[in-house]
Amino acid sequence: MTDTTPRTGTTLPDLGFDPDALRERYRRERDRRIRTDGATQYRRAAGEFGYYAKDPYTERVERDPLTDGVEVLVVGGGFGGLLTGARLREAGVESLRMMDEAGDFGGTWYWNRYPGIHCDVESYSYMPLLEETGYMPKWRYAPGEEIRQHAVRIAEHYGLYRDAVFHTRVTELRWDEDAAEWHVRTDRGDEMRARHVVVSSGTLTQPKLPGIPGIEDFRGHTFHTSRWDYGYTGGTADGGLTGLADKRVAVVGTGATGLQAIPHVARDARHLYVLQRTPSSVDVRDNRPTDPEWAASLRPGWQRERMENFLAILAGEDVEEDLVQDGWTGTARLQRAIITGAVDTTLDPAERERLDELADFAKMNEIRARVDDVVHDPATAEALKPWYRYMCKRPGFSDHYLQTFNRPNVTLVDTADHGGVTGMTENGVVVGETEYEVDCVIFATGFETGVSGVVSGTLPVHGRGGTPLLEAWGRGPRTLHGFYSHGFPNLFHLGPLQNANSVNFVHILQEQAEHIAAVVAEASKTGARYVEPTPEAEAAWARTLAETFVDNSAFLAECTPGYYNGEGTRRAAPTSYSPGPVAFHRLLAEWRKGHMSDVLVAPAAARTEG
Ligand code: NDP
Repeated sequence: MTDTTPRTGTTLPDLGFDPDALRERYRRERDRRIRTDGATQYRRAAGEFGYYAKDPYTERVERDPLTDGVEVLVVGGGFGGLLTGARLREAGVESLRMMDEAGDFGGTWYWNRYPGIHCDVESYSYMPLLEETGYMPKWRYAPGEEIRQHAVRIAEHYGLYRDAVFHTRVTELRWDEDAAEWHVRTDRGDEMRARHVVVSSGTLTQPKLPGIPGIEDFRGHTFHTSRWDYGYTGGTADGGLTGLADKRVAVVGTGATGLQAIPHVARDARHLYVLQRTPSSVDVRDNRPTDPEWAASLRPGWQRERMENFLAILAGEDVEEDLVQDGWTGTARLQRAIITGAVDTTLDPAERERLDELADFAKMNEIRARVDDVVHDPATAEALKPWYRYMCKRPGFSDHYLQTFNRPNVTLVDTADHGGVTGMTENGVVVGETEYEVDCVIFATGFETGVSGVVSGTLPVHGRGGTPLLEAWGRGPRTLHGFYSHGFPNLFHLGPLQNANSVNFVHILQEQAEHIAAVVAEASKTGARYVEPTPEAEAAWARTLAETFVDNSAFLAECTPGYYNGEGTRRAAPTSYSPGPVAFHRLLAEWRKGHMSDVLVAPAAARTEG
């Protein structure tokens, strides 16, 4: 392949492609897919579509409403909540309640059990607390069920089932100033109290459906991938979907989930229609079992070192060695374009962007060439090629997906010129003038994004003086480091909020959980009445975000629509910490050393203030 590796001050060799032609093609392909209704094209899996979000895995157990009080309530039993719970237990917090809408721990991995489910970040970096729990993943990229069981293992190891409540959704958090605690209402009639509340309710949790006209008319079977109906399909997450043997199935969506589920459906269904709007980039996966010799050679502290190495490479930091060496670390420079991080300041920004774009073209040419290598039918291969920059969508990896389109029982239906599936009837799905009769429609159409219930308003929060949090945040979130806000004492947020992100999201959650647990533990130790930043500290953090902001609006505007760019409508804003996660974690560690007391308000001071 042509070497397009950028070097300062060098002239690029012959590229073997025409950047202007590619840029033009990308624009054309983006314009085919831009919809005027943007993000409003989707429907919530609620109300008449509520059955798409029902829990198919665990029976709801009836119980009496709770009226007790705890020191810490953790809302969310995914890895964010589990890591917070684990660290709080380590810090000696006994009075702790975990709560989740699901029937067990696991979060994402509780809900998503579709066939073929795997994590696309390597297990040794993704699955947290491996050394603490004495577990070694069986595969380099772990299947979902192994990850779900690991979540259960963490909960058992740290005693988090004690006092936990499942199938329970918080319906209101209201601050009680006199008692200095939160009054917590739930959809199970609970009226409990908690001195501290940690909200880790996830960001990609609520299934979303395309707003396809006639969706409610379909008489066949239908479900969303995050609530897989094995009662209908038969089989397990490993496949063997024998219930589909005589069925014509349509799968809508070819994102990270579609890529993993489609090969299994193709193998077992009588016929499969894959309804694609935008093709994913599909790079080599190369999954393999864990090498026992390698596992035995690891020294204590290996996991943290590996996670930090992976994070640093993806954030564009200088590292001596690439410990992970996979598709993510191989394309690290391209990922900075969206997730930000350290940048080479020896180049001027325009030159850096030009070189990044060239490297991106070369990478995507490689991805497109792979489609031609694997897919036999030239027209199908053409339709499967992604024409956009690498990080416009979550990059995909699979050694089975493209091969699926060589099967005689699989038809790829390109919906791009119609803005997606155009309709549904009693009998099937419609694209343009063509109706495809099917027995079952499976929606691999993703999730409502970027919002915890606190930000979306589905979890109403009333702080000091009864002030609604969304009113206080009317012009955008106001926090210190994304964790806490003035007027909302003892309330902590996990997730992407005025902080820094990365593709290994569990690592991000781990750092956040450790930070929050350290602050809560210190508050308990010192007897602080409130954990609460000053308005000045919040303003200073907002200034830091603005001053360090790297604007990637131009990149996002050129991207094909998707949830990364608000379906083509979002411009970048200083809502996260542009220097990236490594710098952010360093900043937090420094802050913990010298500034913890800044957010701890002692009882005496509280009395004076209040
Ligand atoms: P995505 O939002 O990534 O994909 C949704 C798919 O549905 C897209 O292909 C989209 O097309 C398509 N779609 C939506 N509406 C229509 C329509 N009207 N007609 C036709 N097609 C339509 O959801 P996923 O569940 O695939 O992934 C969500 C996220 O979950 C990922 O980005 C990733 O962060 C995470 N994930 C992670 C995994 C991991 O291994 N760590 C595995 C799976 C998911 P279009 O692109 O044109 O909008």
